[in-house]
Amino acid sequence: MDSCNGFIFDYSKCVGCHACLVACYNENQTVPPISWRTVNHFNKEKLPLLGFIHQSIACNHCIEAPCLKSCPSGAYSKDTITGAIIHDADKCIGCKYCTWACPFDAPKYNEAKGIIEKCNFCNSRLKEGKEPACTTNCPTGALSFGRVDTDKPKGFGISKKPISPRINTIGDEVLQNIPSQNLVATGTEGSDVTQFLRNGIPSPINAKSEWPLALFSFIGSIMVGWFWSGIVDKSVEFPLWVFILLGSVSALISVLHLGKPLKAYLSIVNIRTSWLAREILSMGLFAATAFAALITNSFPLLIIGSIAGLLFLICIEMVYSVVGKRYKTHIHSANTILTASAFFAFFANYYDLLLLILVIKSALFIARTAIVELQQVPLNTLVSFIRLLLGFVLPIGIIAFSPEINYTNQLLILFILIAELIDRILYYNDIEPERPMHFERELVVKKD
Ligand code: SF4
Ligand code: SF4
Ligand code: SF4
Repeated sequence: MDSCNGFIFDYSKCVGCHACLVACYNENQTVPPISWRTVNHFNKEKLPLLGFIHQSIACNHCIEAPCLKSCPSGAYSKDTITGAIIHDADKCIGCKYCTWACPFDAPKYNEAKGIIEKCNFCNSRLKEGKEPACTTNCPTGALSFGRVDTDKPKGFGISKKPISPRINTIGDEVLQNIPSQNLVATGTEGSDVTQFLRNGIPSPINAKSEWPLALFSFIGSIMVGWFWSGIVDKSVEFPLWVFILLGSVSALISVLHLGKPLKAYLSIVNIRTSWLAREILSMGLFAATAFAALITNSFPLLIIGSIAGLLFLICIEMVYSVVGKRYKTHIHSANTILTASAFFAFFANYYDLLLLILVIKSALFIARTAIVELQQVPLNTLVSFIRLLLGFVLPIGIIAFSPEINYTNQLLILFILIAELIDRILYYNDIEPERPMHFERELVVKKD
């Protein structure tokens, strides 16, 4: 048993009054609407027989804190005396990567400041021997502070990830007292509310908000694939200005995406544990070696640049390993290594290989969207159709029926470029960080 100080939350006592949240505002002088503590209301729509419970949650100062490991700039640290996970605003670059990694939605992004802020465990109070303001001010005793067992099986609403959050829940048995729900009998089957409960809250990550990341990673995979083709085909030309332009555009996009662009230089501080820091460093390594290879025409540098490019793409994929996905396959169609391989095959004139990759990518795309399409709008179905037409049907037709493939190369590359870009952008709609409210789905028990 691993015992330490933490929060104890009793579902059977919480009445959802928000006193804990107000106490946090007062103690830390934080400004609404950003609140370091959240009170979730499960079954807000009050569907009959479903039960109506509340959960007060903030940062749980996890022993194996994924926010601390993921942050590229080393903005998080652990207080070795109290165990508090402390966020340093001066080191934060506003990349929001910690919000992807935390399953409790504890790091809050402050748009006005361009940085994250979060619960600090009332660390100064703890050091004075006092308890946190939120637990002290809970009128019903639902939220308290004391010894918790981080090995204890996690109750309702608590992430099952092996990160050892300093929270224990009790009173979960109120959930057992709620009769199971027959949605058909209550007439709510098929209603918007039912759909909401099934599908959960909208993901904070989506194609609209993350288009700079989609473009950055897409340009990166084109550049690497194009560069790889130089190893096998000496006739491949790399116009230096195109390479520099693509590299500059993708670097600019990624920097401007930060809440604090001028602090971008801090993004490689935590190379030890952050895949985002590794991605940025390997991107720089690839850009530098590729540039040197292009101006010197050196084959050894071409090899080194190609390896750096592969490392860069591996790091891109690992960046997304911290966050939940709606699709179920281990590899997805917009995987940057697969995309780079497709561009490699195209530029090296390996059309059989290109066909094979396009078939694999299209099958993975169908597998990915078949699951998520159920909850998407008709427009996405149309865009998915265009992606398959341009990235599968037409390229196969061109490769199979063109006697001289070189004459139709421009059309082929245009189709593949559009299809792959659509795929990469749509991928961001299929990412969903774990959130406590997702447990609302567990409350819906449908009887036949
Ligand atoms: S421990 Fe302190 S900072 Fe954290 S939620 Fe409670 S009052 Fe806010
Ligand atoms: S609750 Fe979230 S922000 Fe807090 S330590 Fe755990 S992962 Fe980090
Ligand atoms: S630098 Fe990024 S990951 Fe680190 S705290 Fe700031 S937003 Fe979160």
